[in-house]
Amino acid sequence: MMVLGAGKSGIGAAILAKKNNIDVVVCDDSNISNKNIEILNNHNIKWYENEYMSSVSSENDLLVVSPGIEDNHPLIKYFDNKLKPIISEVEFASYFCNAKKICVTGTNGKTTTSLMVTYILKQAGFKVKAVGNIGESYALSVALEDNDYYVIELSSFQLDRMYDFKADISIILNITPDHLDRYNQNFTKYSESKFRIIQNMTKDDHLIYNHDDKVICSWISEHKESKYLLNPVSIQKSLQNGSWIEKEQIKISINNKKQTIMSIHQLAQQGKHNLFNSMAAGVAARVLDIRKEIIRDSLSDFKNVEHRLEEVAKIHGINFINDSKATNVNSTWYALESMQQPTIWIVGGVDKGNDYSVLEGLVKQKVLGIVCLGKDNTKIKETFGEIVESFYESKSAEHAVQISYRIAKKGYNVLLSPACASFDLFKNYEDRGHQFKNAVRAL
Ligand code: ADP
Repeated sequence: MMVLGAGKSGIGAAILAKKNNIDVVVCDDSNISNKNIEILNNHNIKWYENEYMSSVSSENDLLVVSPGIEDNHPLIKYFDNKLKPIISEVEFASYFCNAKKICVTGTNGKTTTSLMVTYILKQAGFKVKAVGNIGESYALSVALEDNDYYVIELSSFQLDRMYDFKADISIILNITPDHLDRYNQNFTKYSESKFRIIQNMTKDDHLIYNHDDKVICSWISEHKESKYLLNPVSIQKSLQNGSWIEKEQIKISINNKKQTIMSIHQLAQQGKHNLFNSMAAGVAARVLDIRKEIIRDSLSDFKNVEHRLEEVAKIHGINFINDSKATNVNSTWYALESMQQPTIWIVGGVDKGNDYSVLEGLVKQKVLGIVCLGKDNTKIKETFGEIVESFYESKSAEHAVQISYRIAKKGYNVLLSPACASFDLFKNYEDRGHQFKNAVRAL
């Protein structure tokens, strides 16, 4: 078999193949890092970098592709033309995995929810690992260790190349436009790839889904013939099963057993979106029959990873919040929605076809000043320039922080929630978040 892409997932797939005595070659369009070459050599795995098409042998009967590689890649076309299977690393790893699989997808909240589920399962004493889009290779873990459970974060790109994979529990958080550049601006195609998470699930498997999300609900009502068990989660309506809120208490009902889990005020992660993520994680845990006390304790001390509504520092009464991971309008909507104080909003970067008008109401309500952080801020200026008291543009995180600090007053929030990708001024969203935090600490 061949593996396309010598990053974490590609290397993981190759090591797993080797361990199972499968002949494997890894190739990459650019130079493979020295560290990865060493790993490949140590495992006796053949590899090619740069110009390798002429060395591709027709004996290869399977291609494992890393996420992020475009469909028009010559190697993908080569396998396609020969009608040979092309699969993702997650699909490949699942062929060798006996552990139970809890899969999480959606436009926003995948990492947070995956980590919440992982944390609850760990607290319950299970051997569990979060893998996939989160940055850890599922295949590598399957090759090296035994786990009771895998929590697999799946992007639509990974799902696109999954066929026989079966989840035991699937969570679909939300579906809103993102990555439409990759799906030829086709929202239906993007949604369809998210729903691949439930393909092959059977009557004992559970789907946990967002009952407040129109796209998800209409898909489910159009696919009533499906056999898996439905567990809706709503923060807006009272339900009979799944999870909902009653008098500020989180209720979960699985297999007709209704329980009050905890008060929404006890949750470690605040904001409506995190309330939803916590409830979805709680349902997954209840499906696995984990005691409500463990769920409550876990969700009340769960610490999220960096760059997601992360409180950085309070300086002269001004609260600086890093939400650099908000790379689309929907996640920024939730960030703004959760602001309880007047807010200076740092926004901008590479726009993936954003429609900012959905934020207008929240901006009027909560935002007093906007500081753009991007090369081209035309759309942001057109939408909000006249609504807010002050409007500035900046080209560095340091400058954005300094302007925000100058215009904010005691009791204000300064929120970096860009609604855009970061590649115009930064290496990635982590770099943007770190530069923001360093600038805050230097004030
Ligand atoms: P993903 O892994 O899907 O990118 P993350 O958990 O990393 O999601 O969060 C990405 C961004 O989306 C953060 O800014 C976070 O505050 C926001 N977010 C988290 N959960 C949700 C949700 N359920 N709905 C909308 N936005 C969310």
